[in-house]
Amino acid sequence: MNEKYLTINAGSSSLKFSLYEANGKEIVNGLIEKIGNDDSGYTLKFDDKKIEKQMLIRNHTEAVNAMISELLENKFIISKDEIKGIGHRVLHGGEKYSDSVLIDEEVIKTIKDLTKLGPLHHPGEIAGIESMIKFFPGVPQIAVFDTAFHQTMPKQNFMYAIPYLWYKEHGVRKYGFHGTSHKYITEVMKKHYNKEDVNLIICHIGSGASISAIKNGKCYNTSMGLTPVDGLVMGTRCGAIDPSIVEYICKEANITVEQAVEILNKKSGLFGLCGKNDFRDVENLAKNGDKNAQIALAIFKKSIIDYIAQYYFQLNGEIDALVFTAGIGENAINLRRDIVNSISKPMRILLDEKENDKISRGKEKTSGIISTDSSSFEVVVVPTNEEFMILKDTYDIANKYYIEQKEKQKVL
Ligand code: ADP
Repeated sequence: MNEKYLTINAGSSSLKFSLYEANGKEIVNGLIEKIGNDDSGYTLKFDDKKIEKQMLIRNHTEAVNAMISELLENKFIISKDEIKGIGHRVLHGGEKYSDSVLIDEEVIKTIKDLTKLGPLHHPGEIAGIESMIKFFPGVPQIAVFDTAFHQTMPKQNFMYAIPYLWYKEHGVRKYGFHGTSHKYITEVMKKHYNKEDVNLIICHIGSGASISAIKNGKCYNTSMGLTPVDGLVMGTRCGAIDPSIVEYICKEANITVEQAVEILNKKSGLFGLCGKNDFRDVENLAKNGDKNAQIALAIFKKSIIDYIAQYYFQLNGEIDALVFTAGIGENAINLRRDIVNSISKPMRILLDEKENDKISRGKEKTSGIISTDSSSFEVVVVPTNEEFMILKDTYDIANKYYIEQKEKQKVL
């Protein structure tokens, strides 16, 4: 029988999944949307084909049901028994998880307890996990946390200068996110340099964006905080701001704290400044003379440079590479050029213009080195692959589980 693996990314009203062969080849991926709404439905994508269907999906259990029916009907799996491991993307592992784990009752309880730190994400993720356990009893299910990779940060980098009790009793500290992406890039760079102790500055710049400092192959600092709203200016998130703004704007604009926080997450950043959150739209507006878009781009760029500079000094200037990744980092040629040129003198690096111009989706290359040989470190573009990382952890932990089960049977 063919061994297959599933990865699940469950949101409050959506469920994304991918089905893989044991060798990592993706067979099909799907998106179930608007769970609980009248117009719910799903899309399946495989090879170059697409199947779309409208159907009433009232909850996550029904979503899992629909997913399995589709997988069986379209013969992506012949039987449920082919599924050997299921990986779940989970937003918050708090201080408890510094790696992916096999899900048991205690793990589910901890993820439930951590809902206070991921109120928007955890309810959907828990529903996804519980539904999958019902459908696949006995199949190892693995939780892959977005925060886990950042757990190696030293205290001086994850503590805020706030009353210690806020940290001790309420867990207020920097956790960081996009950990799966930062971990993937770190692994790629370890291979590239053929050493474990790489020092890197990784710029994951997509609609959500974060920068990490990697010291000796481990996360040393990262720009997102207690929640993903902190750090860099993003598509719709404000990034680091004066915390007093919240109280001030609540009084001035007569809105609640919840409304203010929602605006800082969903209506700020590039969108707040110029009305567009897609980077390409902002670039086009700016090119056509829109002053707000021009200032939005300048603030966006400055916030990236500020973090690169901070982390360059925190790593004592001893870095192997500055890496650009995610939608904007992998594709925005002009932004990469502007950033590298801005830091070129103090950091003794030089942009290889020709190479930079070649790397973008739809161009000659999707990855490569964009600094010249004379630079003091390499500037590299590497496409991120969070799905691969989730699949790898799922495969490794599931197979460790099967080996342990076999050993136990031998002893008995
Ligand atoms: P997320 O996964 O956080 O939703 P992505 O990593 O997919 O985001 O990045 C999406 C962003 O990448 C968008 O702002 C989009 O405009 C930007 N992007 C995609 N292609 C290009 C391009 N060719 N040039 C500039 N920006 C691009």
